[in-house]
Amino acid sequence: MSIKRLYFALTAMTLFALGISAQNMQSVSNYSKRHNDLLAKQNRVKDQIRVQEAQKYAAELYEECEPEPDIYTEGWDSDLVNCYKDANVPNTKVLDVRHYVMPIKGNYVTSHYGYRPQFGRTHKGIDLRAAVGDTVYSAFSGRVRLTRFERGGYGFYVIVRHENGLETVYGHLSRFLVKPDQYVKAGQPIALSGNTGRSTGPHLHFETRFMGYAINPEAIFDFGNRCTHTDSYTFSKATYTKARDYAPSKRYNQAKKSAAEDRETASKKNNKKEQPQVTASTRKSTRESRKEDRSTYKVQKGDNLGKIAAANNMTVAQLKKLNGLSSNTIEEGKVLRVR
Ligand SMILES: [Zn+2]
Repeated sequence: MSIKRLYFALTAMTLFALGISAQNMQSVSNYSKRHNDLLAKQNRVKDQIRVQEAQKYAAELYEECEPEPDIYTEGWDSDLVNCYKDANVPNTKVLDVRHYVMPIKGNYVTSHYGYRPQFGRTHKGIDLRAAVGDTVYSAFSGRVRLTRFERGGYGFYVIVRHENGLETVYGHLSRFLVKPDQYVKAGQPIALSGNTGRSTGPHLHFETRFMGYAINPEAIFDFGNRCTHTDSYTFSKATYTKARDYAPSKRYNQAKKSAAEDRETASKKNNKKEQPQVTASTRKSTRESRKEDRSTYKVQKGDNLGKIAAANNMTVAQLKKLNGLSSNTIEEGKVLRVR
């Protein structure tokens, strides 16, 4: 074996030993190349897989609620909402997205944009983690087009029209801080987030529209890093639904952490409520017994494997293997091994 071949063999072995594959070694140039590929409408198969991956992760972490009906096309007053219905929308248009402010503090997307086969509907925006009463900021400067309430969908929502040609939609709000026709600056508080309309928990539903076309907000914004991908977004009828790379596998740990925090806050709140009951009662609550025996978990109402796995820092596959489960459905009251 020549010295050169020996060197290559050793390098390969070292990389293998460190568990490094070419896939997760990402250089800056590789990252910007991906952006360029997408800008050049050459969205690669790998990026499609990443979107699916992200949806898988989201499904594992959160029980996904049914996507809202499209206010631009399905709302009872769709004519007013979609003023672009008969407009001649250009095939491509470069939009200036330099002067942005992220719509909410925090960087965690709990539900991505995209088609949901189980509901036969497309989620036309993204859901961002938010508590009831968090401030919602206008993403760009512009003018409030409308503030509305829709019980079966967006709840209280605001549509702002921006100077760059985009419109942004903010849904499930608890309170408006602006009135229709009012001019707003990028970053101006426009509402408080909430849990109104068709929503299973407090979050901000956020959409980016160009003449009625719901662009994947993750094509414009990198929510994890709280910035835009590039200074301008090129709207294209061919690619507006596609996300730019947001490396879901990298975000997964951040997402897991945030989800665990959510659960912790929720359980703290519940514990506070349960305190008198626990001391008064001789039978320990399941929450209490769970604290004592951390190796098992009794399935509660509304639980799913994804939730339980995430709460115990494992994957659904690991949880299933540990308990010899073959299906994804679990009965309430079943005791699962989690260690
Ligand atoms: Zn949503």
